Order: sequence, then C-alpha cells, then structure tokens
Amino acid sequence: MSANELWERMRANQSGIGLATVYRALNRGVDEGRLVAVGLEPGSVRYEAADLAHHHHFLCSACSRAFDLIGCVRSLEKLLPDGFEMTNHEILLYGNCADCREAS
Ligand SMILES: [Zn+2]
Ligand SMILES: [Zn+2]
Repeated sequence: MSANELWERMRANQSGIGLATVYRALNRGVDEGRLVAVGLEPGSVRYEAADLAHHHHFLCSACSRAFDLIGCVRSLEKLLPDGFEMTNHEILLYGNCADCREAS
C-alpha cells in the first residue's frame, strides 16, 4: 500500500494526522526491518511487511492498485545468457483487476 493510500485510510479513522507523519512511520518501519519499500511505478513507492514469503505483484492499469501474487515462475534461469548467475528477481504483471473489468 502506498503512503497516500495508508494516509487516506488513517484519515478516515482519526482526523488530523499528516502525510509527513505517515511517511515517518513508514520510514521507521523500513529502518527497523519490519517493512520493505517496493517501487512498482516511477514516483510511487509502496510498502509491505518484510516477512512476506517470496511473491510478485500485479498492477492494475485502471485503478493503480497493486495486488500480491502468490507463487513464482520456474526456470527463469533459462533466460540468462551463458555464464550469468541469477541471485534475485522481481516480476510485475500489468492488466485490469477483477473490479475494473466488471466496471468497464
Ligand atoms: Zn483495478
Ligand atoms: Zn519469484
């Protein structure tokens, strides 16, 4: 969830909280290793729990919401040129989420 999304959710519950406060809390979470920052789009950073199992993301082109995808793809190593070693990877799928498909 992005800082803005979190802020909007918190404002709905308790008024008067500033976006800067939300950013400070998120940065503290990253510093303490409880959160990881995930940059799915330029100019927008999302935060998620650091202890989630390996997973990937789906970004809805219509509503810009990000969804966690459980599971992974085998044999990504096949894409590597000879002599290369893969130590990590990220996969981001784009499309329309179920809500947006229904709405259109
Ligand atoms: Zn959507
Ligand atoms: Zn994976």
